[in-house]
Amino acid sequence: MTDIKKINLLGLSPEKLIEYFESIGEKKFRATQVIKWIHQKGAESFEEMTDVSKVLRAKLEKTCEIRAPEVVSQNISSDGTRKWIIRTEGGKNDCVETVLIPDGDRATLCVSSQVGCSLDCSFCSTGKQGFNRNLTPAEIIGQVWIAIKSFGPMDPNGPRRVTNVVMMGMGEPLMNFEPVVDAMILMMHDHAYGLSKRRVTLSTSGVVPKIYELVKRTDVSLAISLHAPNDELRSQLVPINKKYPIAELIEACQFYLANLPDKRHITIEYTLMSGVNDNEQQAHELAKLLQVLECKINLIPFNPFPNSGYEKPSNNRTRRFQKILADAGYTVTVRTTRGDDIDAACGQLVGDFQDKTRRSQKYIELHEVKSE
Ligand code: SAH
Ligand code: SF4
Repeated sequence: MTDIKKINLLGLSPEKLIEYFESIGEKKFRATQVIKWIHQKGAESFEEMTDVSKVLRAKLEKTCEIRAPEVVSQNISSDGTRKWIIRTEGGKNDCVETVLIPDGDRATLCVSSQVGCSLDCSFCSTGKQGFNRNLTPAEIIGQVWIAIKSFGPMDPNGPRRVTNVVMMGMGEPLMNFEPVVDAMILMMHDHAYGLSKRRVTLSTSGVVPKIYELVKRTDVSLAISLHAPNDELRSQLVPINKKYPIAELIEACQFYLANLPDKRHITIEYTLMSGVNDNEQQAHELAKLLQVLECKINLIPFNPFPNSGYEKPSNNRTRRFQKILADAGYTVTVRTTRGDDIDAACGQLVGDFQDKTRRSQKYIELHEVKSE
């Protein structure tokens, strides 16, 4: 028997699923039913789809599948933080992590887009591992699906288990453009997860041409990993800055905001590294640089990993940096650590698979992104 590769419906955007259904002679509303079954009720088989005709179910069974990526481990911290190690299709060591951070009535899911990353930022352990592979749309949206299912049977009328998504896990989302866009469309689609566009945030280190493309395709919120107030320093920390310097990046951000249908701001992420980018003069320089951009600033104290060569600044230094920016009129948040008690356990678990996955994702628990 020949083994035909089945189409994984989990990763198909509503548009693509409708297109597929029409190509097999099925009506559009059938596609809508199936999307709801998968993303709102968490169906894993066609058999469960009781309002879909038996004939269609049998037809889908032959050519399609609903396949989430494999969960290697799940950890739940005493503060409610949940963390998954997810194996992607590349091989047994191709793992990424997904983290869910509850905060009052919100829960923010930090989603990965690539195994590794080619952009090689000097302070990032994902960058140190190099680029391994892009995640498929099913592997990206699968992280949302897995997180919500971890609370028990999915219920479209139940409480929202994930209220915000940030594309801030492993990888540079704009270097895996189409799959990331498809997954984000599903996150926001009424027939799937129905998240507000203000609550889905893509974080980029500044792949400028893709920022222009992104606004044509979606209207998610945008976060920029800036980390330095001038090109000289930024090019050392974020090598892609040599290709797309700060002025071009800011222009792209202005374009992005100007082309959104509503009024929004950019989130500027600034990882503070002791003695590198955290002095008072740099804070003033940053305040001046960002005057031209509608933005809020999120300071991230550096999260150390072995042989990184960087250190996190003292709380005093962090506060001083924050105050200078706040005095200049910016809204500035400082990211705090969450899920401490599952850190070690998680590290042990991933240690068996791949040291780099563990290290690269340490900083994810820090995420406390203040999107609305
Ligand atoms: N590639 C994207 C998204 C993933 S990184 C980007 O660079 O924006 C998510 C955020 O964590 C980025 O702002 C990144 O600069 C930051 N980061 C990476 N390594 C870090 C570390 N060791 N400590 C603190 N923040 C880190
Ligand atoms: Fe890639 Fe982002 Fe890490 Fe830079 S900070 S290496 S872009 S994941």
